[in-house]
Amino acid sequence: MTSTVPAEAARAQALAWIRQAPKRLLIGGQWVEAASGKRFETINPTTEQLLCRVAEADSADVDAAVAAARKAFEAPSWAGMSPHARTRALLKIADTIEAHIPELAAIESLDNGMPLWYATAAATACVDIFRYYAGWCSKVLGTTIPSDGGTLIYTLREPLGVCGQIIPWNVPVLMASIKFANALCCGNTVVLKPAELACLTSIRLAELVQETDLPPGVVNVLPGFGPTAGAALAQHLGVDKIAFTGSTAVGKQVVRDATSNLKKVTLELGGKAPNVVFADADIEKAVQAAVKTFCGNSGQVCSAGTRLFVQESIHEQVAERVAQLAGTWKAGDPFAADTRLGPLISAKQRDRVRAYIGAGQEGGAALRLGGQAWSGAGYFVEPTVFDHVKNGMRIAQEEIFGPVLSIIPFKDEDDAVLQGNDTHYGLSAAVWTRDVSRAHKVVKALKAGRLWINTFGEADPAMAFGGYKQSGWGREFGQESIEAYTQTKSVMVRF
Ligand code: ADP
Ligand code: MG
Repeated sequence: MTSTVPAEAARAQALAWIRQAPKRLLIGGQWVEAASGKRFETINPTTEQLLCRVAEADSADVDAAVAAARKAFEAPSWAGMSPHARTRALLKIADTIEAHIPELAAIESLDNGMPLWYATAAATACVDIFRYYAGWCSKVLGTTIPSDGGTLIYTLREPLGVCGQIIPWNVPVLMASIKFANALCCGNTVVLKPAELACLTSIRLAELVQETDLPPGVVNVLPGFGPTAGAALAQHLGVDKIAFTGSTAVGKQVVRDATSNLKKVTLELGGKAPNVVFADADIEKAVQAAVKTFCGNSGQVCSAGTRLFVQESIHEQVAERVAQLAGTWKAGDPFAADTRLGPLISAKQRDRVRAYIGAGQEGGAALRLGGQAWSGAGYFVEPTVFDHVKNGMRIAQEEIFGPVLSIIPFKDEDDAVLQGNDTHYGLSAAVWTRDVSRAHKVVKALKAGRLWINTFGEADPAMAFGGYKQSGWGREFGQESIEAYTQTKSVMVRF
């Protein structure tokens, strides 16, 4: 579905919402100020100007939200709701989101800086996510287990309870939707902490959810900072599960905090995906996808293909075409029709990315494109392509989270797999070849949770997503995500 609302109208509508009522915390069905009365600023990364001030949750608010979520979890209005009624509730949320795609996308573009076309695609994906999980509500099945004639053994798949959910700022509305839909379809209640750098679409999404039929307290939202609100949620004794998406370093801290009550933990962390192009591939398609994955959302995507492995015989041709195509990704106002690339989320993130570009040059990689400082307002970094990168270099090992690509030549299949797997991460990977046997062999050999053959970055809510190695624990999407939000109770009946 494409939006028919012009960009300017969507921006005006989003600004009107941003400037109206104060942005507060959602606790037990009420929008409230933080207990401390504190507020923090959220900035438009394109203009570096203040957008609005948002209530800042801290541990006292986490206590209140967890209590509200517990009460909602136990209440007959939610615990006793039939799976079919839950399906209808999630479908209604999907319809409500669908009716607000232009507004949600425009709020995201203002708050996060992503181009409107990208934000529109993300908001549109949320609709499918809610519809996908709506279908699951009535299919969270237990089993009956073969036993002797004197007993019946069966299992029940039950919700975990109160789920703490911490999301990053890179694609906020999508992250919030995944977290809500997955938890709710299994009968849990949630306390969501959006990222302090871009929390506005989570607030708007929660408002839209409130307009539908969910009982109060099923969804609670606490904008706030990581070390305060986030840590309080991860440590909380009243939280049954924590689902975290963010950096690997913070993920490790969340795990340590979750030991307080051994709550269940799932983690979606960083990546440094190998994108492997063999000489027999459809080269133009591979190049277009390679550019889209490292430039899309200015590279602020954990599954981005940031290491482009190119077979030696086509290396020069591919590197040249990648640089040429990436050079056409125009940076600018996210609302302008010809903008492909928005700013990074913050000055800190821009400086971090620029430091990596410096490290790439000092490390001896060949700069094919970019590397210039941006003059003017906004935290922009233009597409940057390094060629002849060695996989051991910092720019090839560390997650940069900016539009920076490392091109690494390889000899043959074994070499591609060896180098591709030489990383702490294992979130995603792709292989481009017309040789069917080779495609499947390489996919099997690459250690990552989501793989593509002859495409990159396409997603389907039915397709599990999660990390090998230090890219995470557990899976979101697909059947495994249902398991991640439920627990098994086994029952024996003696006749
Ligand atoms: P990034 O560095 O890309 O911003 P983070 O992992 O720091 O990613 O942030 C992802 C989310 O984790 C944000 O919502 C942030 O507030 C939260 N966060 C940061 N530090 C902590 C922490 N110590 N405990 C819990 N959540 C945290
Ligand atoms: Mg912002």
